[in-house]
Amino acid sequence: MNIGNIGISRRGFLVATSAVVVGGIASGGSALGQATTQPAPAVFKLPPLGYAYDAVEPNIDARTMEIHHTKHHGAFVTNLNRLAVANPMLGTLTAQAILADNCAAVPEAARTPVRNNLGGHLNHTLYWETLNPAGKSGAEPVGALAEQIESDLGGWEKAKTDLAASSMGRFGSGWGWLVLKDGKLSILSTANQDSPWMAGQVPLLGIDVWEHAYYLKYQNRRADYIAAFWNAVNWQAVGGKFENLGK
Ligand code: MN
Repeated sequence: MNIGNIGISRRGFLVATSAVVVGGIASGGSALGQATTQPAPAVFKLPPLGYAYDAVEPNIDARTMEIHHTKHHGAFVTNLNRLAVANPMLGTLTAQAILADNCAAVPEAARTPVRNNLGGHLNHTLYWETLNPAGKSGAEPVGALAEQIESDLGGWEKAKTDLAASSMGRFGSGWGWLVLKDGKLSILSTANQDSPWMAGQVPLLGIDVWEHAYYLKYQNRRADYIAAFWNAVNWQAVGGKFENLGK
């Protein structure tokens, strides 16, 4: 598989074929998007799930999915549109490029909210895309991704154990990740809404371990949520993302 199209450009921006262009140009307002009389333009949009909120029942319940999508992810989108009023680069640079450059393209006062909300937007977009709309269980990685998991991570059973441990080990809120960097797969976790793109890593699968992702059904039982999460993964989608990196 050719993954040669990913790297850091001379300007320090991540270059990747899977980059999401967040589109549009905004103007006016303060750096934090406050004290403006203009309505925030819809530079960012909440992506539709493409499946029903109950599609991954019983592993992730419908009410959690709906609140998570409309309220939690929705808040990131609302915040980004507010930020984009005064920070038009949010509409012209890719989200990945901004994060990979440590938000250097954004005025200092807006860097922390951009990092949190742009990371949250990308993280959740991937999360929805990699859940299984058919609700099938027991699936495992297949094809080229399965082969590379075998060679880089010692096979899926070991990788699954390591990813669960990484996700369990994240104190407080954050994410567990399967990522690709420099052609190698690895497993890690990030705090808060920090995105793997910040470290030049391409996220392929993310486990949201914020309590809002599981509290209604699992309460404090993060391990039970993670065990159920495996049954909700759409490996065709994850494998497709991996294979498309070379195109
Ligand atoms: Mn979340």
